[in-house]
Amino acid sequence: MNVARNNTATGTTATVKRGRFAPSPTGRLHAGSLLAAVGSYLDARQAGGEWIVRIEDIDRDRTVPGAADDILRTLESYGLEWDGAVLYQHTRTDAYRAALEALRAQGLVYACDCARRAYRSAGQGGEARYPGHCRHRTHPPTTAHAWRLDTRTAPPYTIADRLQGNYTQDVAQAVGDFVLWRKDGWPAYQLAVVVDDAHQGISDVVRGMDLLDNTPRQRLLQDRLQAPAPRYAHLPLLRDRDGSKLSKSTQALPVAKHAASATLAWILRMLQHPLPDDLGAAAPREQLAYAVAHWDTHRLAGVREISVPAG
Ligand code: GLU
Ligand code: ZN
Repeated sequence: MNVARNNTATGTTATVKRGRFAPSPTGRLHAGSLLAAVGSYLDARQAGGEWIVRIEDIDRDRTVPGAADDILRTLESYGLEWDGAVLYQHTRTDAYRAALEALRAQGLVYACDCARRAYRSAGQGGEARYPGHCRHRTHPPTTAHAWRLDTRTAPPYTIADRLQGNYTQDVAQAVGDFVLWRKDGWPAYQLAVVVDDAHQGISDVVRGMDLLDNTPRQRLLQDRLQAPAPRYAHLPLLRDRDGSKLSKSTQALPVAKHAASATLAWILRMLQHPLPDDLGAAAPREQLAYAVAHWDTHRLAGVREISVPAG
């Protein structure tokens, strides 16, 4: 199956730059995701490109009712205007299923009912590498099971990240045969994101560093589905001054819809694009216009994390 870019939704040509912000509606927008939204917005708008919003709401367990609307209202209050209609992944199950079938037709998919604890290894952090137990089973499981991608024939991928330089990963070694369709009946993030980035004609993925190590999996799926590969730029993560991850503290703090000017000025400072003093309290739209005109990815080259200053 060819899931090559389809631009009929917006009627534009494939040469236009198109970025996206793809939040999971697991709660209110927080500083880390606002930073990703602003970075991808500036990157697209500076090139005169389009910027779209996609709500990644396929993870039923993590989706919080009302969170998607709250995120959209927050983006609006920050002057982050998107193009076209918001795409909700929960409406796209047929497309993900078609992609799964296309991979199955290539003999690359197999059923797996292993419990996660059965293969959690002593490896350091991140995901456990799945060792491929179920690859050769002759009878498919009769109980709930996941579908995995056979990665044995995958080449190592080197991502030429626009900010972080080259990042190389051998998917088979690093993560093994990863899940395409989950045991609970829902498509996995890796599959859905690849299908939708292609469907929406995304030319530039700009998102947080926490997703850099997911990118080779996505490049592999793009190749297997004959989808074009977007360019990638991974933005630095916010860290506490003591160097700890902000996931449970500042980065995770919900951002207010009021005080948008002050918060946006702070986000732009974190992105190494400080505003001139006279714009510190200007309307978010004005602040963004300045930042769009001055956006320069070189300022973030090789920056993997940013320590959040006191106050
Ligand atoms: N939905 C993912 C998240 O919120 C982001 C996906 C992406 O940008 O590729 O972490
Ligand atoms: Zn298995």
